[in-house]
Amino acid sequence: MLGLMMDTPLTLTVIMRHGDRNHARREIVSVTHDHALHRYTFADCFARTRRLANALDRLGAGADARIATLAWNDFRHLELYYAVSCSGRVCHTVNPRLFEEQIVYILNHAEAEWVFVDPAFVPRLESLAAQCPAVKGYVVLSDEAHMPQTTLPNARCYETLVAAAPDTYAWPELDEKRASGLCYTSGTTGNPKGVLYNHRSAVLMAYAGALPDTCGVSAMDAILPIVPMFHVNAWGMPFSAVLTGAKLVFPGPTLSDPKRLADLITSEGVTISAGVPTVCLPLLAHARDNGRSLAPLNRMVIGGSACPLSMMEEFRDRHQVRVVHAWGMTEMSPLGTVNALTPETAPLTGAALADQMCSQGRAIPGVELKITDDDNRELPWDGKASGALKVRGYWVCRDYYRLDGTGGAHDADGWFATGDVASIDPNGFMRITDRAKDVIKSGGEWISSIDLENTAMGHPSVAEAAVIGVNHPKWQERPLLVVVRKQGVEVSATELLHYFEGKVAKWWIPEDVAFVDELPHTATGKLSKLELRKRFAAYRFPGT
Ligand code: AMP
Repeated sequence: MLGLMMDTPLTLTVIMRHGDRNHARREIVSVTHDHALHRYTFADCFARTRRLANALDRLGAGADARIATLAWNDFRHLELYYAVSCSGRVCHTVNPRLFEEQIVYILNHAEAEWVFVDPAFVPRLESLAAQCPAVKGYVVLSDEAHMPQTTLPNARCYETLVAAAPDTYAWPELDEKRASGLCYTSGTTGNPKGVLYNHRSAVLMAYAGALPDTCGVSAMDAILPIVPMFHVNAWGMPFSAVLTGAKLVFPGPTLSDPKRLADLITSEGVTISAGVPTVCLPLLAHARDNGRSLAPLNRMVIGGSACPLSMMEEFRDRHQVRVVHAWGMTEMSPLGTVNALTPETAPLTGAALADQMCSQGRAIPGVELKITDDDNRELPWDGKASGALKVRGYWVCRDYYRLDGTGGAHDADGWFATGDVASIDPNGFMRITDRAKDVIKSGGEWISSIDLENTAMGHPSVAEAAVIGVNHPKWQERPLLVVVRKQGVEVSATELLHYFEGKVAKWWIPEDVAFVDELPHTATGKLSKLELRKRFAAYRFPGT
């Protein structure tokens, strides 16, 4: 027997309407290239969103068009999030920090029709536009007064398009399974892979992200997403905020400026912020060095890499800020687990508390976890056994965009293999113990160890090379190149590191080189990164 409740689809349009109607006066404050502090309300935002949807129609954007953005966190990007998705199109956020070939690959693979770009990224796009012939045109996120001179083909001014369009729009009734957003991850081997979100997954993530034991968002909050809107929808914050009526504060291009962030926190009454550990370090240092308070901030969502204990303690002890330590992935929209208090953990003190804080936390309702051994047998939740971490749930991807099941990330039962290695304790607290995937995460961005190894192997003195991620106090991880030299050949670390210049992005170049007599291999002759990481567990980069 079927229930007799309405079939109202789970769409972002419903969230947008709710925010527009019920939180009309809530503010959105943005730093942008053309505004020191732009300020308007949810009602203003959604009126412009309707204009933008009309403008997209007028541009001739297809019903299913992938509309790419290369943009910082600000009000225009937010308008794009809603106008693109709620008009039935796909908001395709592109990470401008990727290097040129990756951006070209991503735009072409997604067959992006229009690209909306911040003036800061116009020069980057100019140099690659010729390689993206399917793009119909570029819209610069600016007013006429600040439009840069550009060679981009068919370049338009955002504010002119918006101003010329009517502010009423008949939002279509969308299927909740309709694609709403697209974000490529380079956290796997090979080309970046597209994760195609739908309205249903985005809505459920917005609800789950706002739960008290997740980020605990309410209408009394003001949220400062430092995590970029090109990284998994800024962890769903722009949706949870509109859902709950929390004020939004966007740092625009100043997201790496700790003074500006601290100023925004104080002047705009920010209560929740979110970012990777690397952006929190300078914020803490700025507050420490200048004797500044971060009040009224009271929660800092930190994920993307393991949050160091010292960071959580400094936020707690100096600023009375609770770190919400979260784990997730692009493929998971992104939230999977959060470390929140439970009756079992609340009484802990001293070393037991410190240890507990380092756990990545428990599954958010809507996500299931399991750990398995090499034969896909489930391992116990005893806090000791560690194995491949697999997930399934409402906002977990079931395939990659246009890979048609060849992504190789799902097991026979449909669980998604995260590439992380973890243990889970009897209370459900998960702890990442290692990473099975051959990628390194430095400051929140991925580095391919395989590409670095291939480059190193091109050097005439190298017999065998392996690259592993090693803890780094600023970047969380940096690549360490481990090399077996050819017999009788001398080569210095400096010479090897020079060899990478011009062959890989500058920030990919290994931090250091360790010379060894041989590298560990598995029984099948494969390089054992697991063993190598164990051997170098105590290694520290010079000067750290
Ligand atoms: P991305 O898809 O770029 O968001 O990266 C997801 C990956 O980042 C995960 O599979 C983990 O390897 C890593 N990661 C994310 N959050 C954490 C965390 N809290 N602790 C440790 N690793 C994390």
